[in-house]
Amino acid sequence: MTATAVKQAAVTAVSHWIDGAELAGTSGRTSDVFNPSTGEVAAQVPFASLEELDRCVASAKAASAAWAATPPLRRARVLFRYRQLLEEASEELAQTISREHGKTVADARGEIVRGLEVVEFACGIPDLIKGEYNENVGTGVDAWSIRQPLGVVAGITPFNFPAMVPLWMFPVALACGNSFILKPSERDPSASMLLAKLLKQAGLPDGVFSVLHGDKVAVDGLLAHPDIAAISFVGSTPVARHVHQQGTLGGKRVQALGGAKNHMVIMPDADLDDAVEALLGAAYGSAGERCMAISVAVAVGDACADALIEKLGPKVRALKIGLPTDAATEMGPLISGAHRNKVCDYIQHGVGEGAKLLIDGRSGHVDKPGFFLGGSLFDGVQPDMKIYQEEIFGPVLGILRVPDLETAIKLINAHPYANGTAIFTRSGAAARIFTSQIEVGMVGVNVPLPVPVAFHSFGGWRSSLFGDHHIYGREGVRFYTRLKAITQRWPKDADAKAEFSMPTMK
Ligand code: NAD
Repeated sequence: MTATAVKQAAVTAVSHWIDGAELAGTSGRTSDVFNPSTGEVAAQVPFASLEELDRCVASAKAASAAWAATPPLRRARVLFRYRQLLEEASEELAQTISREHGKTVADARGEIVRGLEVVEFACGIPDLIKGEYNENVGTGVDAWSIRQPLGVVAGITPFNFPAMVPLWMFPVALACGNSFILKPSERDPSASMLLAKLLKQAGLPDGVFSVLHGDKVAVDGLLAHPDIAAISFVGSTPVARHVHQQGTLGGKRVQALGGAKNHMVIMPDADLDDAVEALLGAAYGSAGERCMAISVAVAVGDACADALIEKLGPKVRALKIGLPTDAATEMGPLISGAHRNKVCDYIQHGVGEGAKLLIDGRSGHVDKPGFFLGGSLFDGVQPDMKIYQEEIFGPVLGILRVPDLETAIKLINAHPYANGTAIFTRSGAAARIFTSQIEVGMVGVNVPLPVPVAFHSFGGWRSSLFGDHHIYGREGVRFYTRLKAITQRWPKDADAKAEFSMPTMK
């Protein structure tokens, strides 16, 4: 056997998950899945054809009526079992995520816990889908409203949280009585297969949950398919906008969460040590590949900015960059070589447009195997710079100086992205003004990553979310159900007469 043959043998083929079983892709189109720590190809994921997509939707549709008719408590019991199985498999899942994504295993464990919390929330959904009832809205007339499932719904997810983001969607959708088709990111597809297998073990009927791997062909196929009632999307803004436009054009319900550029305001009265530690984790954790990562530090006053840099700089230089399986590692590699090149291009562009590169994360990393990159820190970032306007999605933090809180708020409110933001201060008055006047979907006060817990809902404003509903929590329940209002009377005698004017309750 040649060396090439040995290497080929180690590359696993990922399958679709249709009708409760693995199904090998048949389109002949595939994509490489990398091990970001080595840069080698570790697996190949199939890209679904439209025929495979039709088969998947048909299986989900066939299963959906019985699942919708299953009593909500029995649906919830599947999720109770799922919660237990997921917890038991969390180490395997964390290793799988880390292997394909490059985030540290500890970070992957954290994403699983945040996903588990949505499963726990979904276990209580029978209470949230109960309706409202009024006796005697008119004489002998009763009225009530109920929430019913939509049918077959689909979720399209990004690479950066291969377990948590799908878990933001399907536990809620399933508990509400829908069938769910997941189109995961092609860059780290294996976690979704484990999630599917555990659902089967938990007792979910075949066809109620499917995984269809693919690219634009699969996504556009889902958007156009007449048997899909709703689409949840999480990913970059240009694709989110496309998904929202095409999905709603076809009459679907769509929630499309997009990209981000999250600001953290540091007031002169903030506990600076606390703010520095918060910034370090929020900007460089998961190599900055988080939609809630802080990528802009807005320092109020030059003295605050200078003191911040003095404390933060040495810590950025000392970041422990290494294998994600090493417990001491703080930052693993980026998802791909192409993405690392894109981040490096932004760093170069920032230098070109006049920002001051205090720490260059490229040095010492880009010439080694794997997709590693160190942390970069810019000072003197200006609002009109490309490195400020655009999402970099890497370990790059820019510092922008403003004279006061009012200017900070105006700056943040003018940015196209409005996913998350935070203020670090000791002043309740400043925090109150900030939380009230800031036009951003998720806000933290001395909390750098204000990701809402499962019983609140997640979502940004402006170009960070297209659609009317945030994701998970009660907003998720509203998204995955439709309201029906019923008005009922049981006439005693046959004295009914036709009414030709608008009926009113008597
Ligand atoms: P992406 O937009 O490239 O991909 C997301 C999904 O869309 C994937 O499943 C992908 O296969 C599919 N896709 C990609 N290009 C497509 C196209 N042209 N047409 C149709 N489908 C397409 O995003 P990504 O790089 O995987 O993830 C990173 C992005 O996701 C960042 O912008 C990040 O901010 C964002 N994100 C947002 C949130 C949020 O809650 N707002 C959460 C996580 C990630």
